[in-house]
Amino acid sequence: GASPPHRRATALPPHLGHKKVLVTGGAGFVGSSVAMHLLARGDSVVIVDEMNDYYDVRIKENNLRRVRDMCPVDDPGRLVIYRGDICDEEFMLSLFEAERPRWVCHMAARAGVRPSIQDPYIYIHSNIRGTTHLMELSHKFGVENFVFASSSSVYGGSKSTFFSEDECVDNPVSPYAASKKACELLAYTYHHLYRLNVTGLRFFTVYGPRGRPDMAPFKFIDRVSRGLELQQFGDGSSSRDYTYIDDIVDGIVRAIDRPYPYQVFNLGKGSGNSLSEFISIVEKHVGREAIVKVLPDQPGDVPYTCADVSKAYDLLGYSATVPFDEGIRRTVRWYEDEYVKNICIEPETQANGMGRAAS
Ligand code: NAD
Repeated sequence: GASPPHRRATALPPHLGHKKVLVTGGAGFVGSSVAMHLLARGDSVVIVDEMNDYYDVRIKENNLRRVRDMCPVDDPGRLVIYRGDICDEEFMLSLFEAERPRWVCHMAARAGVRPSIQDPYIYIHSNIRGTTHLMELSHKFGVENFVFASSSSVYGGSKSTFFSEDECVDNPVSPYAASKKACELLAYTYHHLYRLNVTGLRFFTVYGPRGRPDMAPFKFIDRVSRGLELQQFGDGSSSRDYTYIDDIVDGIVRAIDRPYPYQVFNLGKGSGNSLSEFISIVEKHVGREAIVKVLPDQPGDVPYTCADVSKAYDLLGYSATVPFDEGIRRTVRWYEDEYVKNICIEPETQANGMGRAAS
């Protein structure tokens, strides 16, 4: 037949056999989404998460409930959940001894750019020490493929139109970004020293159902829905490559299934949306006008991100499929149908007397 049009995601190769995958940060936004996908296709999943309170722990508990729901009742052994710190050497050693995972999908990290300026040490600890520790165990236990979350933030204030893995200079402008760059460097070292297969995935602003409440997509939907003021940093022209969670999960699973000795890939949508556009798309799907307070740009924030995804396309068959407007529509639907009804929340609205309570 005709060859597929350029930039369409290629079909995943048939899923042969079943994998046992350690998903770190499996109670978080991305980790829980990957865990659900792996369980749905028949893999075994071992989750480790410390359930820290960087954001509302009820969201993480709900994520874990959703993951458990994906595990077949007649095969409960396909999911094991550990609560613990990936930096705790004794605990992680006993986890590896008990579970002997052959694949590692390392999503645990302190995320968030601005808080990393306030408290850099916890970022260095969880992200750099935690990742090193996992790679140390992974090579000792003969892991076949180590896939980990890096970030578009490593590019910093790149002036390129499209950020490409092999052309752009990395200029991390926050401790968070620097911690992710350090993970990439250490990954190279583990590949070099021990032939550990490692793939780093630079996610570009991930959003979608169960998205992180500290990130703009969630915040804006939440504030607009409740009639509360939202803060816009800068004049609205700053632009982000927003990537829908299902596309990110697709890219992660492709990377798990396709080990490379050492690779770093962008996982983005490959196009940007300005902050102003973003706010008006939220207004459209929430059906309410935003009350916008304009504030100066924030230190550590970058004005622009846009992924060149051609390498992920060529080597993984990855291509994002969900347009921004559709992704926000689905996220608003999740916010209204699940978040407000099942997870939320002592409304801030009652404390400050503004807006309406989320009933
Ligand atoms: P998240 O905060 O929802 O998930 C991270 C999870 O890791 C949390 O549940 C947290 O409790 C856990 N964790 C943190 N430190 C830990 C430790 N020391 N031991 C055990 N568990 C620990 O964040 P997310 O948005 O799902 O991000 C997943 C990964 O993707 C992170 O590495 C993040 O840096 C990266 N990333 C995310 C985005 C995005 O837009 N969401 C963009 C770029 C990169």
